[in-house]
Amino acid sequence: MAKVVCVLYEDPESGYPTSYARDDVPTITRYPDGQTAPSPSAIDFTPGQLLGSVTGELGLRKYLDANGHAFVVTSSKDGPASVLERELQDADVVISQPFWPAYLTAERMAKAPNLKLAVTAGIGSDHVDLEAAIKRGITVAEVTFSNSISVSEHVVMMILALVRNYLPSYQWVLKGGWNIADCVARSYDLEGMHGGTVAAGRIGLAVLRRLKPFDVRLHYVDRHRLPKEVEEELNLTWHSSVEEMVEVCDVVTINCPLHPETEHLFDEAMLAKMKRGAYIINTARGKICDRDAIAKALESGQLAGYAGDVWFPQPAPQDHPWRSMPHHGMTPHISGTSLSAQARYAAGVREILECWFEGRPIRDEYLIVDGGKLAGVGAKSYSEGNATRGSEEAARFAR
Ligand code: NDP
Repeated sequence: MAKVVCVLYEDPESGYPTSYARDDVPTITRYPDGQTAPSPSAIDFTPGQLLGSVTGELGLRKYLDANGHAFVVTSSKDGPASVLERELQDADVVISQPFWPAYLTAERMAKAPNLKLAVTAGIGSDHVDLEAAIKRGITVAEVTFSNSISVSEHVVMMILALVRNYLPSYQWVLKGGWNIADCVARSYDLEGMHGGTVAAGRIGLAVLRRLKPFDVRLHYVDRHRLPKEVEEELNLTWHSSVEEMVEVCDVVTINCPLHPETEHLFDEAMLAKMKRGAYIINTARGKICDRDAIAKALESGQLAGYAGDVWFPQPAPQDHPWRSMPHHGMTPHISGTSLSAQARYAAGVREILECWFEGRPIRDEYLIVDGGKLAGVGAKSYSEGNATRGSEEAARFAR
């Protein structure tokens, strides 16, 4: 019997939904590279239900109760008085979503001597101190590919929203105006622009594929080059450094994991190398960009727009400058937690737990850290280290 602590975001302010806008979500059985979608022995939820908030419990309650495990679900995650801090002390497994991350710092791990498995319900395990997990023999796993396409759709939406000046124009309608000149004074066509992705992994490549029909001239930078056929099919220009790519791009989308190599990659120096009036879309992780440098570049006009859904820390404090900087299109961290995505990553968490409790290997494609080292997909995409520094600031969030 194990104790499983699961940190999820709060229910909607209007209460947990009793009905939904749509009756079903498409069933995805395979991802574009052939990887199969999660395949647990069963699921105890209806795809399309809200699973990522506290009442949704990732659809795990019945399964964990039936197998005699203790299951604690909470949204209280930051600060010494949080439920997470209290329940961690004898927890065997911690589950959390990047949207509302349970920061697992070295200090917290030290308070959790039984902790053996940290599961990310989604993708991106930077909220776990990977260096400390390696030292302590904690396995870290995430549900690779579960929401990569969800994010790529969001990136394209945000690129169009910024370039075409959608959000301010929508505001004119809400204000009762018909101010066409105000709307279009910052509105352009995406056609013919140069667009580049930092990383062409699952999300980055999906973004490139979705931008191709808009006749965007496509660029990428990645530690490994894509196959020649893909470069030719999408007419891609590969760059050997981020600096070299941003000099020629009108739109830059960031799609690499946060790890020590990428922390604060977009600082004042990198922003100064970009074309004046470029746009950045960052749905990867907030800390890949320097918070104050981004706000400054928008104020000076070096950047024409910045959009994304990722912040540091999360939730972002009320006075976070990205809430009030000009020409931004920020949302809370939502791109990877559409109802469609939730069904996949909830099933993936169930698959990981079934493997863990039944002593079967977790798929290599889900492993980030295992056996005291980076493993599986983690050995390819991450570097050893810690990206959780400063996460205690999340306790400052207050409505
Ligand atoms: P993948 O692992 O498929 O892709 C990550 C890519 O980043 C790999 O191609 C990797 O290169 C590349 N990379 C790693 N380090 C660098 C570097 N220093 N410079 C250039 N490229 C680098 O992951 P996904 O595409 O599925 O997800 C990417 C990230 O997006 C996640 O780690 C997460 O942070 C974020 N994400 C955000 C979500 C949201 O809701 N906003 C939801 C899901 C993910 P290689 O393997 O070739 O070495």
